[in-house]
Amino acid sequence: MRESLNIPENLTVNTLLTELKKYIPKKDLLLITLTYEFADEAHAGQKRRSGEPYIQHPLTAAYILATMRIDLPIIVATILHDVPEDTEVTLEEIEKNFGKDIASMLKGITKLGKIKYRGVERYIENLRKMFVAMAEDIRVMIIKFSDRTHNLMTLDAQPKNKQHRIALESLEIYAPIANRLGMGEFKGLLEDLSFPYIYPKEYKKVIDIRDKILTDEKKYLEEIIKLGKKELEKSNIDFIDIHGRRKRLYRLYQKLLQKGWESNKIFDIVAIRIIVKDIGDCYATLGILHKLWRPLKGRIKDYIAQPKPNGYESLHTTVFCENGKSVEFQIRTQQMHDEAEYGVAAHWHYDEKGKRLPKKDVGWAKELASIQKDVLKNIKDLEDIKVDFFKSHIFVFTPQGDVIDLPEDATPIDFAYQIHTDVGNHCNGAKVNDQLVSLDTPLKSGDVVDILSEKHRKGPSPDWLKTVKTHSAKTRIKQALSKSEGNVWWKTIFQKEDEKKKKEKKK
Ligand code: MN
Repeated sequence: MRESLNIPENLTVNTLLTELKKYIPKKDLLLITLTYEFADEAHAGQKRRSGEPYIQHPLTAAYILATMRIDLPIIVATILHDVPEDTEVTLEEIEKNFGKDIASMLKGITKLGKIKYRGVERYIENLRKMFVAMAEDIRVMIIKFSDRTHNLMTLDAQPKNKQHRIALESLEIYAPIANRLGMGEFKGLLEDLSFPYIYPKEYKKVIDIRDKILTDEKKYLEEIIKLGKKELEKSNIDFIDIHGRRKRLYRLYQKLLQKGWESNKIFDIVAIRIIVKDIGDCYATLGILHKLWRPLKGRIKDYIAQPKPNGYESLHTTVFCENGKSVEFQIRTQQMHDEAEYGVAAHWHYDEKGKRLPKKDVGWAKELASIQKDVLKNIKDLEDIKVDFFKSHIFVFTPQGDVIDLPEDATPIDFAYQIHTDVGNHCNGAKVNDQLVSLDTPLKSGDVVDILSEKHRKGPSPDWLKTVKTHSAKTRIKQALSKSEGNVWWKTIFQKEDEKKKKEKKK
């Protein structure tokens, strides 16, 4: 059974070099040594929260990408990824030493910035930042995913509340983006590493279920793989690989939720993956399996003729194997496999023979542009996830960075009363993200709101009652108005409002 990610302990630059030697010519590796020395010197004296020297972090992030056989410039940029932001070394110096291309990737990473965990994340703002960076250079996201993966692997060193926030953000933002980009490997890693921090009890339960099935089925699957191999050899299909693959934990968790935790209703907790030479062999293999074992109705999926929206291609089928047990098979070519694991990153990936994958004939630039447009269009879906998750609340910030929680479409006046009754009563204007706005402007998540107050202001305006969204602001405005004696005209507004409500109730 294939393990997902194994990071050697006490990783050094030599561990990284050994991995890179598998696909990068030796003469190019001097650059890695030099880059490492440059980054090591820049981060000298800095430590991770875990106590490790800081350089272990970029080094491990680079190693993760090397195991995916990612192109050299991305590896170089990954080793340097925290240098411009966390050290004295400037982007100009990096450009002088490493050239324009590397510097521009680092500029992208720096623009993404460290996400400031003040209360709840500035969710959409972060998301947009990420899409902007992605639109400029998708390679930046590959680096970011690797960076985040290592941060999740070392999350135990962080304080509890930070653990939760980083894991949640990875699950809700990073993993869906990785999925959209077809990067199954990163999507799986990000989800499975975040999973225990968000749903610890469920995580244990899912592990137990999966481990029990793995021990029970191990012998059986080995037997099936043997039988399958024999049959393929008989038919002269020369397969590249047959291996068992276990379902990722978080995926399994979601399936279990769908099926009311009845694991016997899930057919692909373990599956057998067959990698063959070309598309013709994919269909031939499917036929051979179906001749050998009877397929389960409705479980044959042709993702080659009809790829998934993120580009995933494969043939899936579930068959009744020996003793009537059902087993899922996934059949694909090496290229489909690489694209499923690495998605857009596959274009910076070297295949087993060391050659770079052929680029699609549509033209790389064109394809990239269309993927990005698609992704940007889909930002709405991600916002929908957000709305689900945050219900219909927005989170806005004081200029000091405190988070204020408000209902959707709340105004600066709601915000002012949320801070303090006096701030509300003396509110005379508002700046949102440094722009003067009218007091009935609906606020959005991530806005920074600055209330301008006028000490001598007599009190709230009755008009505010028409636009505020929070119950508390309404009550306080009414209280303040009723205190100001002799004011009769506002009473008519209350009356009108009450009448309107009565009418609405009648309807
Ligand atoms: Mn980092």
